[in-house]
Amino acid sequence: MGSRTPAPRTGLDSPVLVLNRGYQPVRITDARNGFALLYLGRARVLDANFEPYDFPAWARRPASPLEESIGTVRGRICVPRVLLLDGYNRVPRAPLRLSRRHVYMRDDYTCQYCAQRPGIKELNLDHVMPRSRGGRSSWENLVTSCRRCNLEKGRSTPEEAGMRLLKRPVRPSWSLALSLAAQRRRFVEWEPFLAAMAPAGEAE
Ligand SMILES: [Zn+2]
Repeated sequence: MGSRTPAPRTGLDSPVLVLNRGYQPVRITDARNGFALLYLGRARVLDANFEPYDFPAWARRPASPLEESIGTVRGRICVPRVLLLDGYNRVPRAPLRLSRRHVYMRDDYTCQYCAQRPGIKELNLDHVMPRSRGGRSSWENLVTSCRRCNLEKGRSTPEEAGMRLLKRPVRPSWSLALSLAAQRRRFVEWEPFLAAMAPAGEAE
């Protein structure tokens, strides 16, 4: 990934892997939202030994200097890495939110018209069917494009502009979505759960 990998998020922005009651990964959220789930009693933290903690127990647990923690009025509290949901046993269809960054990641930061990888500053989101002509902002209608191709295409469809897409844009599958979401920052604590994710179990 090298220079294309953005700076790791820390503190309340740290990513947290969320498991359903059956210990299957369902999404990656941030610690801010993770603490809310924990505080509301909707999830428990799993520590590195798979020991579950509710909010009071987690808040009492001493933060080791090696663990990432945040300061609160009651002292330091560790940032959870894995949360276990209490009342949710399904696997959602789309754990990955549609965003500019996620479309770039799906397309591997590659312009879908000229196959160049000019760097993130030179990339754009392109509506395959232009917005001005009713094209929607969806996984199926958004692709990564370099500025030059984006300009060249203008308000045309690829056919009209004589351009060809490298591949048809699709919504990322469940396992791909999770691995993309985990790409920015990934923790050893996640590995047992991500490794257990067999492609055969994919909910599409
Ligand atoms: Zn291009």
